[in-house]
Amino acid sequence: MLMKIVEYPSPILKQSCNPVESVNADIRKLISDMFETMYAANGVGLAAPQVGIQKNIVVIDVGRLENEQTKPDPIAIINPTFESQEGKITWEEGCLSLPELIVPMERSAKVIVNALNADGKAVKILGEQLLAVALQHEIDHLEGILLVDRLSRLKRELYRKKQSKRSTLEETIAPPSNPVGKPYLG
Ligand SMILES: [Zn+2]
Repeated sequence: MLMKIVEYPSPILKQSCNPVESVNADIRKLISDMFETMYAANGVGLAAPQVGIQKNIVVIDVGRLENEQTKPDPIAIINPTFESQEGKITWEEGCLSLPELIVPMERSAKVIVNALNADGKAVKILGEQLLAVALQHEIDHLEGILLVDRLSRLKRELYRKKQSKRSTLEETIAPPSNPVGKPYLG
């Protein structure tokens, strides 16, 4: 089932999420809906608060971008915590909840995340390159942190003003487009 993606400045995106206590059929259905929504939006990641759910759940698939055969590589991540973060990488990031924003962002180059998978089993995810960036971007969402929160105050203010103009004109404006042709992270 396709879900509606919540957009900035919705207060839902600013709240921290709660841990998943039991990985049951409802959680698995939610994960499956999140994957469907992410693929339909051409994202490589999606966090539960982006579909209005305050739970520590993230879905990521960097496979379609990193592999020339466009092989899907879906990863469901529940209750993630960082075990380690090292190095630095700068990536042009976008977000499905922040229309028309693509900004270079510095992140850790290599991360290890501990989490549960969709079967409720403990897993360790090693992320480098785009997967490292996506893990940090999506786990930020679970803590109510958005890409705009990591911009300078001036840039954040400019974006906020642009978006409030946009929402007053919502009916006459085309759906969000991606100016540099890079897929949104989620
Ligand atoms: Zn995002």
